[in-house]
Amino acid sequence: MLIDNESELILFDMPPQIMTQLRNYDIDETCIQNVLFTHRHDDHIAGARYLFQRRKQKGFQELNQINAYMSESTYRHLQMRFSKLDHYGSPVPFENVDCEMIQSYKRFSIGTLTITPLETNHLRMKQSTDECFGYLIETVNGITISYLLDAGSDIPDRTLEIMRESNLDLLITDCTFLSSDNPGHMDLKRVRALQKEVNPGRMIISHIGHSNNTHDTLVQNLVESGIEVGFDGLTIIL
Ligand SMILES: [Zn+2]
Ligand SMILES: [Zn+2]
Repeated sequence: MLIDNESELILFDMPPQIMTQLRNYDIDETCIQNVLFTHRHDDHIAGARYLFQRRKQKGFQELNQINAYMSESTYRHLQMRFSKLDHYGSPVPFENVDCEMIQSYKRFSIGTLTITPLETNHLRMKQSTDECFGYLIETVNGITISYLLDAGSDIPDRTLEIMRESNLDLLITDCTFLSSDNPGHMDLKRVRALQKEVNPGRMIISHIGHSNNTHDTLVQNLVESGIEVGFDGLTIIL
């Protein structure tokens, strides 16, 4: 997800296909000033290699610094993952990337936006102590958005409470599976339950796995609930 706040471009996660996505939608990667990582899984961080490498090729000394926000466990993983040599025979450049450690429920600001990291149980299911953050994003105009990938079942009470009390204008959550016993991700039943629990103004599913239904079938399944089905290139104006 990319937020354009007029004064800032804020990217959430870097999937492996990040450069293709930026090119497809004509976004100049050198304008991205802030990146927030949710967690350490490759479908959320692997694109860091390509984006940072590309900035190096363009002469990163002259480019703006990137502020990258993440939990300490995600930071440790990024360092381990990208300190290895890449296929050009050099470590992935972290020069000009300012890594900021963030903590559960501790608010911080990016420009005029206020961000709160919300804990999920995505990584806790396998007894890991590593964090997976969703985010609450608040604008100065009182617009509230929650971005909750990968949520997992059994979302912590405090996260649910914050989302309920924020009267969300928009909730974006994963719907990785159609239905599943996998406790680390959301499925259709959990998505519907979360809508009832949090009652957002608008709700969009994303991070839809290949084993899930097709886009059109999901739209049909969800039309009554008002939940929308996300797709590549979706633009939301709030
Ligand atoms: Zn994950
Ligand atoms: Zn994921």
